[in-house]
Amino acid sequence: MGKAKTAYIKNEGNGTLAKYVYGTAPYPVFVINLQEIKKSSDKYGVEIETAIETTLTHELGHAIQDWMGLDLDEREAEEFARHWYDFRQIWNFWE
Ligand SMILES: [Zn+2]
Repeated sequence: MGKAKTAYIKNEGNGTLAKYVYGTAPYPVFVINLQEIKKSSDKYGVEIETAIETTLTHELGHAIQDWMGLDLDEREAEEFARHWYDFRQIWNFWE
């Protein structure tokens, strides 16, 4: 396992929802703030299950970016989560 030096934090302006602990891939460590996810799901009128799922898949996107030696790209991670949510398919952005 790589050395965990820094953490990447997802922030939507109302608190930290989750973070991927940078350097932990290929055994990615995620820290999830369920309280902030709940607040966010209430604020945007999204089911809590959907909010948890999209947050986790977004962070998984960052873990894969790190694992593949790519830059941590917000738009790419968001698209990765969106693609999973819409199509139930892993978007192979690294190919
Ligand atoms: Zn992100």
